[in-house]
Amino acid sequence: MGKNKNFKGPQRETNVSTKVNADKMKSKINKGGVFVYTKALSTAELAETLNIPVSDIIKFLFMQGKMITINTILDDELIGTVCLQFGFDFQKKHIVEAENFEEVEINDDPSKLKERPPVVTIMGHVDHGKTTLIDAIRNSNLVAGEVGGISQEIGAYQKEINGKKITFIDTPGHEAFTAMRSRGASVTDIVVLVVAADDGVMPQTIEAIDHAKAAGVPVIVAINKMDKPGADPDRVKTELMSHDIIAEEYGGSNICVEISAKKKNNIEGLLEAIILVSEMQELKANPDRYALGTVLEAKLDKNEGPKATLLVQNGTLKSGDFLVVGTSYGKARRMTNEHNKVLKEATPSTPVVVIGLSEVPEAGDRFMAFSDESEAREIANKRRLIKENKTRNATSAASLDDLFNLAKEGNIQRLNIIVKADSTGSAEAVKASLEKLSTDDIKINVIRATSGAITQSDVLLASASHAIIYGFNVRPDALTRAKAAEEKVEIRLHRIIYALIEEIQAAMKGMLAPTMVEKITGQAEIRKLFKVSKIGTIAGCMVTDGVIKNNSLIRLMREGVVIYEGKLGSLQREKDSVKEVKAGFECGLTIEGYNDEKEGDIIEGYEIVEEK
Ligand code: GDP
Repeated sequence: MGKNKNFKGPQRETNVSTKVNADKMKSKINKGGVFVYTKALSTAELAETLNIPVSDIIKFLFMQGKMITINTILDDELIGTVCLQFGFDFQKKHIVEAENFEEVEINDDPSKLKERPPVVTIMGHVDHGKTTLIDAIRNSNLVAGEVGGISQEIGAYQKEINGKKITFIDTPGHEAFTAMRSRGASVTDIVVLVVAADDGVMPQTIEAIDHAKAAGVPVIVAINKMDKPGADPDRVKTELMSHDIIAEEYGGSNICVEISAKKKNNIEGLLEAIILVSEMQELKANPDRYALGTVLEAKLDKNEGPKATLLVQNGTLKSGDFLVVGTSYGKARRMTNEHNKVLKEATPSTPVVVIGLSEVPEAGDRFMAFSDESEAREIANKRRLIKENKTRNATSAASLDDLFNLAKEGNIQRLNIIVKADSTGSAEAVKASLEKLSTDDIKINVIRATSGAITQSDVLLASASHAIIYGFNVRPDALTRAKAAEEKVEIRLHRIIYALIEEIQAAMKGMLAPTMVEKITGQAEIRKLFKVSKIGTIAGCMVTDGVIKNNSLIRLMREGVVIYEGKLGSLQREKDSVKEVKAGFECGLTIEGYNDEKEGDIIEGYEIVEEK
């Protein structure tokens, strides 16, 4: 989103300056001169710089069949056309937007690209053998003459098979993967999904699949524990099919490799599969530029100061380069690899431990290397200012408003959505209707569609994938809502499919009207029920969150699913009718027109208010 596709970045050979000289842009140039520009300009700005009447430009373009105004932002083609017409040469200069290097998309000259090793993360359900597999790979001695074990200190390392390298990131579990992605860092090219052959697909298996899908990363299945008597690889493959992981032998694109991590059986087969998949991906990078990459982990070493494991993702990091990491800078004073060997340089996909940073960065921070210390310092300072500003004006990461604003700028390509519904059938229906909304410009990407309440795991996935969560007849509990607020994840709740569709369509068109939204006032849990003739069921409740008001709208929920919506009939504390009851107090209440409450049901009070 909003990426500058023309970013060139500092190249070692050309030594492009990263300094932006805004003043140069403003000075007028003479006819016959070269008009050097750096970004799209409005008609008025172009007219001023070229020193020609703006009406001449508008008239000329009108004759060319282009309707523009003085405020129209002209693209490169229009700028070029105008320059030629009015007797200027023109040249677009690419400015390195060094202070926001996370945002840029490297667009190297294809002739400079060289193959790079794939970066692999191992995921899977607990106890299915991730750690055992990681150890088996770490300790495997595939290359003759490879000396020494791998230092435990580095959470990433490379292995070589048939002359090709593979980079493994070692932090098992999904949190590392999710945490990185939620910070915008995508480091993994391939996910190896470990599934125990005697246990099959389990909740965290599905979670891992969701994460891989959301990241758009291919999945290789390692069917583990094949040495066990109960091993049933076919069952695993069948179960995976309902999660869109289709084995090659079943006509799909996912390679499944049967292994035993414990007995170290067929580890080579798995590595060969990784090479195969990486070759299909054609992973490439430009080793001739200054390095760009991501911090995998970092700590403060008592003797050596900040010590970080960096993954070089593009370019080459050389010992002595200056690094901007997060909002600090430093020098790559010493670099070592997983065998504690000192390296002079690290090429793309190489993990290295670096000493010499001024602060301990965070895992997931991006870094960029520079040749010049003052430049690195200046950029780090700028980034600090930007960060402080951002924290001050923190807004949600992914929200319909964002979609709306980005759509207005014509700037969005993809909207990730998580659907939670009251049944699998309606989840599928909502998913299908949403995916149909995809256009050439905006792809609607449903990364999870399941039945059940909205949970914290949904919020984490949403946060990692910048997704919006849509609840269809289901709700989050108070804890999940708090988590969503903390992670700045937007949860939208709907009861009617077409209302949901309309909302997204409107946002996609950049026409989101101010809407009426629901504000939850509080929740109460039903602890005891009393049947009273004439009155009906009185629910003895504990208000667990916020406040329950006698005139508010309510919904009754059972295990996160909405059972009934309506109004309260009465609200009492002890024997008295009251207007409201706050969290921490008990109350008795009836629901108008409904008597089938159960103990443990949740009553949620809400109001409809106009969104600002
Ligand atoms: P993790 O939670 O996914 O990291 O799983 P572990 O690697 O800790 O493995 C869980 C248990 O399964 C341990 O007792 C391992 O020894 C065992 N295990 C792992 N791989 C295999 C295997 O290939 N065969 C057998 N029989 N046991 C295995």
